[in-house]
Amino acid sequence: MNVNAQKITDLMARCIECGLCSDACPSHAHGGCDPFLVMTGKEGGKVRDCIGCGACTEVCPTTDPKQVMMYRKSEALGLEVPGVFLRTGYVMPPADPSWRDGLPGIPSGEDIFLMPGCTTVCKVPFLQYATERALDAVGVHGSALPKNTCCMYPLSLRSLTDAQRDVYKHRMENSGVGRPIVTICAGCTNELARSGVQTTHLSVFLADYLDRIKELPGTDLKVALQPGCSGKIFAKEFEAVVRATGARPIGNPFGCCGKTIPRIADELMAERQAEAAEADAIVVGCPMCFRMYDSRPHSKPVLYLGELVALAAGDRETQRFHLNRLEV
Ligand code: SF4
Ligand code: SF4
Repeated sequence: MNVNAQKITDLMARCIECGLCSDACPSHAHGGCDPFLVMTGKEGGKVRDCIGCGACTEVCPTTDPKQVMMYRKSEALGLEVPGVFLRTGYVMPPADPSWRDGLPGIPSGEDIFLMPGCTTVCKVPFLQYATERALDAVGVHGSALPKNTCCMYPLSLRSLTDAQRDVYKHRMENSGVGRPIVTICAGCTNELARSGVQTTHLSVFLADYLDRIKELPGTDLKVALQPGCSGKIFAKEFEAVVRATGARPIGNPFGCCGKTIPRIADELMAERQAEAAEADAIVVGCPMCFRMYDSRPHSKPVLYLGELVALAAGDRETQRFHLNRLEV
């Protein structure tokens, strides 16, 4: 038995069969996976429908069903480490750097290192510009983390052992030479923390600069808040930053975007859109959520947190990259 298989067996053995995970699972609520069946080794758990949201682990009193689901799903899909990861450090081909053409320059400095993560680097690179602009607006300047790679969360990397994944994580941390590392994706923050690598998600970092954000020209948008499944633990800081911009949250519940799970993502997205009906825009703390909302035709406009702060500072440059643009 390899190291990962032993670890999964141990996590499953700690299950006390209470069923709380099934009740909390947004995929199960829409006829998708059943973490209870997977954890108890029964047939029919539909592990391929797991979104990786972590709601099961939040409620589980004894073990970590999300980790089991991630490994089981990777096995079921027969995923291997993608060649592009070995060549570039990211699990998808990075975006053409010309995305930055025509955007204003932003001063760099030595205050922090910025870790964008795979989804930003490969799919929505303009969120990096918005984040740099938000940091600039509060007087913080940095540069890209020198050995930035994937945070090692994606399913396709689960065939590596945890020790192998740790090597990449610690190599990144060491390249930061002790300077604060700010992440764009809360999923990166959480995955790195699992290996003892300390980073700070943008929402938490900006929460130390509320007075400066309040001095910006600001915005009076009515917004629905969706920090994302990984960002929920920073919800207080996330909301404080949003309120400091002048934006007004409408009090909607937090929910999962569904990522790319067939049918279930459609149903979850319909729920989120209905909850945001009264808002001018949805504010997210996760580049994957951003992508899911913005890729839907007729979605409510979505802003990544960095874009909202940039907007409060008078910069709406990244709207040109959106499918569903904000009319302000
Ligand atoms: S990670 Fe989310 S979708 Fe997957 S089993 Fe747990 S609660 Fe369900
Ligand atoms: S919540 Fe935890 S202990 Fe309860 S059934 Fe699910 S995995 Fe088992």
